[in-house]
Amino acid sequence: MEIMNGKMVSQSICEKLKEKTNSLIASGKRVPQLAAVLVGSNGASETYVASKIKHCEEIGFKSNMVRLDETISEQELMTTIESLNKNAEVDGILVQLPLPKHINEQNIINLIDPEKDVDGFSPVNTGRLVLGMQSYIPATPYGIMLMLEHYNIETSGKKAVVIGRSNIVGRPMSILLSQAGPFGDATVTLCHSKTKNLSSICQEADIIVAALGKPGFLTADMVKPGAVIIDVGITRVPDASKKSGFSIKGDVDFDNVSVKSSFITPVPGGVGLMTIAGLLMNTYNAYLKRNKLP
Ligand code: NAD
Repeated sequence: MEIMNGKMVSQSICEKLKEKTNSLIASGKRVPQLAAVLVGSNGASETYVASKIKHCEEIGFKSNMVRLDETISEQELMTTIESLNKNAEVDGILVQLPLPKHINEQNIINLIDPEKDVDGFSPVNTGRLVLGMQSYIPATPYGIMLMLEHYNIETSGKKAVVIGRSNIVGRPMSILLSQAGPFGDATVTLCHSKTKNLSSICQEADIIVAALGKPGFLTADMVKPGAVIIDVGITRVPDASKKSGFSIKGDVDFDNVSVKSSFITPVPGGVGLMTIAGLLMNTYNAYLKRNKLP
């Protein structure tokens, strides 16, 4: 069994991006800029955005944190997005989800300029992804693909099971694994809350991506010996032994599943950090495209 080390892989991607940013600075060009929009003060969202901003700064990207009050109207948020769309120095825009209930998330996502949509959630980028065209791939599935590439995981002709069909993780992941080309060409089953016989479907899988948000859901009896296990889940569970009062749990029963697997991602230290690497890669690529650089 080998642990897929998201910290190490994301660090190596960040180092390469830092070198590229330094070359831009040396040639007198402006650096890529990411604008992160945070509405309200959800604890988990605050942590995610802070981490994204910190990584931007570490590699030399400019970052622009737009903090908005929980009570902001949908129209006011739209005006903010429109002004970021128009700002020539902003290359990537991310709106941290979830948004407060009174705001229609899809209306906001639809408004982000597809060329700046570095989360890859807009209908244009989703359509491009489905059609196999160049697109901004949602950061988590992109990060997972970068991880599969780093560990040279054979996917062609393999049976892959993705658990969870959200627009931001499960569904794009199933598309990427099934599309033609490197780290694709798998035969993919996309499972969800209405799937019957999930255990037996998983038992046949060579690769399992668990993205449902239920701590410890994937147990050893559901896993074939030698399977590759990608754990996307991030759930805060109460933990009195931690200063924060909670610990982070993945969707996989790591202790028991890891001994049966060939490769497995830990939580934390796996997919979460690769998501940031995916976001930074998308931002850098958006910068190149917007500036017509090779
Ligand atoms: P979501 O709530 O939008 O979707 C969950 C999916 O799981 C749904 O499609 C649902 O049908 C499916 N599901 C729920 N219960 C199920 C069951 N018993 N059996 C089979 N399928 C079931 O969640 P999401 O946004 O896709 O996130 C999933 C998990 O991944 C969460 O824990 C989230 O925090 C985490 N996440 C992590 C990262 C990261 O960077 N590591 C990024 C995004 C999301």
